[in-house]
Amino acid sequence: MGQKIPVSIQRCASYEPDQVQDALNKALAPLGGISSFVSPGDRVLLKPNLLSARPPEAAVTTHPEVVRAVALEVQAAGGTALLGDSPGAESLNRVLKRCGIMEVVRETGIEVLPFRTPEPMPVPEGGVYKSFLLASEAASCDAIINLPKFKTHGMMTMTLAVKNMFGAVVGAAKAGWHLQVREPALFGDMLLDIWRTLAPALNIMDGITAMEGNGPGSGDPLDLGLLMASPSSLAMDCVAGAIAGVDPGRHPVLYRAMMRSLRGSELSHVEVLGEAIRDVKRVFVLPVSASRVDFRLPAWLKGRMKRSLNCFPVLDAGKCTTCGQCAQICPVNAITLHNSSRGGGDVDRDLCISCFCCQEVCPERAIAIVPGGLLRVLRRANLA
Ligand code: SF4
Ligand code: SF4
Repeated sequence: MGQKIPVSIQRCASYEPDQVQDALNKALAPLGGISSFVSPGDRVLLKPNLLSARPPEAAVTTHPEVVRAVALEVQAAGGTALLGDSPGAESLNRVLKRCGIMEVVRETGIEVLPFRTPEPMPVPEGGVYKSFLLASEAASCDAIINLPKFKTHGMMTMTLAVKNMFGAVVGAAKAGWHLQVREPALFGDMLLDIWRTLAPALNIMDGITAMEGNGPGSGDPLDLGLLMASPSSLAMDCVAGAIAGVDPGRHPVLYRAMMRSLRGSELSHVEVLGEAIRDVKRVFVLPVSASRVDFRLPAWLKGRMKRSLNCFPVLDAGKCTTCGQCAQICPVNAITLHNSSRGGGDVDRDLCISCFCCQEVCPERAIAIVPGGLLRVLRRANLA
C-alpha cells in the first residue's frame, strides 16, 4: 500500500455562507488548498446531487450554499465554474430552481452544462465493465469536483461520493441500468467503474444536514454538521460509512470495492484529517430495504421466494397526488395508479425488481418500503 489517501473532516453547524466558506477553506487547507486541484484557465465541472426538485431543507439535494462556496473558490483560483447533471425524472432547470441552486448560478455566474450527449468511454484497466455511455459534457471539462450529499439509499444503503457520479449516465438510460443490473453488489461494481472512468479530481461532501431513514428521496433530515473533502470518492465513502456506523457488508459499493482491493476501500488506506471519526460518529437509521450484500441464497430458491425475500414499495393513497412520476420512472412498468379521487396505486410484485427508483422520485414521500414475510423473520434472527 502506497501513501495514505487524505480525507478531511470539518464541523460546520449551519448553511450560513460565511460558515460554509470557512469550513470549506479549513477542509481544503491540509489537501493543499483549491489550487492543488484547479489551475488558472481550467474549466471545472461541479457535479452536485440533483436527485429531484425538492427544497434545500428536504436534504435531498446538495445545498446551494455548498455549491456557492465551491464555485467561489474555483473562480478565485482562476478557473471557470460550470455545473452539470442529468436528473432522472425532471428537467435540470426545474430541479435547479426548486433546490435553490439556480439563484446561486445567477449570482456567481456559474455556467449550466446539462448532460445531454452520451459518448462511449473506456473503463480504466481493472474494471468489471469495459466501457460506458457517459455524458460527453462531463468529460469535456478539465476537472470534475464531485459535490455529493451524505444520504441513505433504499437499494444501495448509502448514496455518497462514488454513487453521485451515476448522474453522468444521461437521462432515461439510468432506468436501463436498473433493468440490466438488478443485484446491489453488481450495481456497486457498475458504480465503481463509472466513478473510475470519470475520476473526479476532488470531492466535497455536504454532510451539514444529512439524510437518514428512507433515503435518498423520502428520508429524514439529520443535523450532522460536517463538511468533508478528499481527492478520492472511495476513501471519502469509506470514512462516511464509518461515521454513519454502516457495516461494509451492508454497503454494496464499499463491499465490492473491498472485494476488488481498490485503494481507498478500507480505513487502513486513509489518513483522516481534522475531526476524528470517533468524535463525529452518528449511527444512522438505515432504509428498511438495506440488506446484507454478503447474504446469498441459491438463485433458484431466491427466484421462487422472491415475494417473501425482497422489499417492495407500497403507495400511500392518503399522501399520493397521482402525479405519475413513480409510474413513469419504473423500469418494468410495475406501478398502476388509481384514479385521482382514490389516490395511490398498486405495485405488481412479480414484475418489481426492487430498485426503489419510484420512492426516490416521489415528491410527496408517499411511498413506503416493506419487507416480505420471510425477510422479516430472517432479520429478526439477524441473518439478513
Ligand atoms: S406515489 Fe408519489 S410519485 Fe407516485 S403518483 Fe403518488 S405522489 Fe406521484
Ligand atoms: S415498482 Fe418501484 S421498486 Fe419496483 S421496479 Fe418499479 S420503480 Fe423499482
